[in-house]
Amino acid sequence: MDHFLNPPQPEELNLENVKYEKKDMVATVTINRPRVYNCLNFQTLREMTRAFEIASWDDEVGVVVLTGAGDKAFCTGADMKEQNNEILERPRNYWKWMGAFIEAHDKLMNIGKPTIARLNGMTVGGGNEFNMNCDLAIAADHVYIRQVGNSHGSVAAGGATQWLPLIVGDRRAREILWLNEEISAEKALDWGLVNEVVPYNQLDDAVDNMAKKLLQKLPECVRYTKEQTNFWRKMSFNQTVGHARDWLTVHTGAYETHEAMRAFNEKRKPDYDMLRQRMATNDSYEHLWGAPMLECNECGTKDIPEHFKHCGNCGAPLNK
Ligand SMILES: [Zn+2]
Repeated sequence: MDHFLNPPQPEELNLENVKYEKKDMVATVTINRPRVYNCLNFQTLREMTRAFEIASWDDEVGVVVLTGAGDKAFCTGADMKEQNNEILERPRNYWKWMGAFIEAHDKLMNIGKPTIARLNGMTVGGGNEFNMNCDLAIAADHVYIRQVGNSHGSVAAGGATQWLPLIVGDRRAREILWLNEEISAEKALDWGLVNEVVPYNQLDDAVDNMAKKLLQKLPECVRYTKEQTNFWRKMSFNQTVGHARDWLTVHTGAYETHEAMRAFNEKRKPDYDMLRQRMATNDSYEHLWGAPMLECNECGTKDIPEHFKHCGNCGAPLNK
């Protein structure tokens, strides 16, 4: 029985990127990487999963709050440095990263108690997907929410394509997913993307207040109400996210992803016109130097890109 009565405690976990606090039956999980706008690397996702698991099992916890450290960012989605250094060159690592991302979402969705997103700053990309996974959300009035996938080389299929239509309606979901514009806190409230907007200095009081109201409800009824209201979220997420995991892994090797990531590193916009022109002029859109179709008559090297004028292996001129 002991392991039911005494679930593991956060200090046993050696959490580095996530802070876990418990007070008055409320557990607060804080993504604690404020210097990088609380973005999500592999380790952070793994720690979030463990923090959610502890909160789920602990009977001294009735409500879980998810937030970010500082007042700049709630969470800004994938860690672009990690994506660039460890995933762009080895796309198969995306599959591992996305596995950790899905696992954290599953633990949060099935945590068995009400969750509140405390939006303390910008809520972008995968950050908004964690916002939407929570049952309720309170935003500080300086917050904006934004999806960025179609601008920066990805598809927001880790919660946003699935849940935005449910939460804000289909037309607004498409606007958020395609136009990638900032949604102010006021607009997010109007669209039902958050439940409440307050000045930043009242954020903690508003969250405490909501948590106290939730604690004055029957735990079992609350838990099962969550399971019931999760039906459409789970249906849409579970039916599509494994597919998304694989498609996004493959897409990580695409030329448009390469161009978008390079643009991000060079602090410029991706060259959308160039990409479209390559297609419109019947050039290769999919390969940086053209399709790997040429063969060297001198040394026999195959799969040389069609725009190369010389063999990259022996230097001989290539004639098409
Ligand atoms: Zn050659």
